[in-house]
Amino acid sequence: MHCSQRIMMILLFLCSFLSACTSIVTTENNLGLLWRQASGEYRAVCLQTYKQALEAVRQYDPASASKPPAIVADLDETVLDNGRFHAYSRISGRPFSQERWDEWVRESVDPTRAYRVGAVPGAVDFINAVLGMEKGITMVYVSNRNDYQLEDSQKALRLIGVRNVEQAVFLLKSPGMKTKQSRYREVASRYEIIAMLGDSLGDFMGEIDPATGESEEVTGDNPERYQARWGNQWFMIPNPVYGSWTQPFAGENAAKDFFLTQCAEKCLNH
Ligand SMILES: [Mg+2]
Repeated sequence: MHCSQRIMMILLFLCSFLSACTSIVTTENNLGLLWRQASGEYRAVCLQTYKQALEAVRQYDPASASKPPAIVADLDETVLDNGRFHAYSRISGRPFSQERWDEWVRESVDPTRAYRVGAVPGAVDFINAVLGMEKGITMVYVSNRNDYQLEDSQKALRLIGVRNVEQAVFLLKSPGMKTKQSRYREVASRYEIIAMLGDSLGDFMGEIDPATGESEEVTGDNPERYQARWGNQWFMIPNPVYGSWTQPFAGENAAKDFFLTQCAEKCLNH
């Protein structure tokens, strides 16, 4: 093979490689959505997580408690499945906005609509089983839905089949709130938290610093620090579509070349 042919082959290889990388990057989030919405693996992981959580709750002995027991759960993508909202966003090409999200929260609880809010696999059976155990456990939903969305959030839970919604505690987001940590500390002061469930690291309450009374945020830098809690008190539902894990790639970092470099660096360093 002549030198010029060799160079041409190398260029062709590089072009096809770069084109493959570009398509991976541009479809990455769609692949995440497809995996969550259409794969049996996603459903199996959710069922596995909820089964393990139920086993942990079964082990709990209320006689040993000094405070009433509670389970803290996030709502979106932990109990409530909003996949149809995200799928429609992709199809219509309309990006996420607070206005569109509010519209979805309002309208997705209409039982006559074709596209309604759904249930994360295993969630409804888990909650109803916990309530049926007669251990006096309170479900506390700590969500970054806005506090004006309380009624629709309760409707959504009823729609997917959760029982005793009126007896649950809802701590939604008020103006000015950034993380969930202050709400978690409020729950911890009133209840013994026997399990936490979420789809994002921000759904879990880290160690409370006795000097400041502040709880550590669980982030991408420190999940290993809490190894003893995962699978025992903390239960994670996978969410490859959105969440705090995407923040390093958001905003101005979303530019394709930067994203590609970040992906490559992350992969190399893990
Ligand atoms: Mg969530």
